Amino acid sequence: MADLRRFKCRCCGECRMDPRYLKLFDALEDRWGPLRVTSGYRCQRHNRAVGGVAHSLHTKGLAADVACVKARQPELGEMAKALGFNQVVLYPMRGFVHLGVKT
Ligand SMILES: [Zn+2]
Ligand SMILES: [Zn+2]
Repeated sequence: MADLRRFKCRCCGECRMDPRYLKLFDALEDRWGPLRVTSGYRCQRHNRAVGGVAHSLHTKGLAADVACVKARQPELGEMAKALGFNQVVLYPMRGFVHLGVKT
């Protein structure tokens, strides 16, 4: 089971992750191995502070950014899509991948 503490909002500790999201995240880690979450749930305030888009899936508990080296990002992206993540954005220069689920 995904360790929920990893998904807490970085500013206030709030953590309203969608259970459906966590289930998918678990499935991904089962295949890929442990992932390091760099940004999970974001309250509105924190989302604004980090320059996130207004209706970011992070504010709905339906997205997380995970650390991943540039060379392996395409592979991680494909695996995530195959499992049902439907908002996958690679950030090769910044070293992370955004994994979102639009419902
Ligand atoms: Zn917060
Ligand atoms: Zn993100």
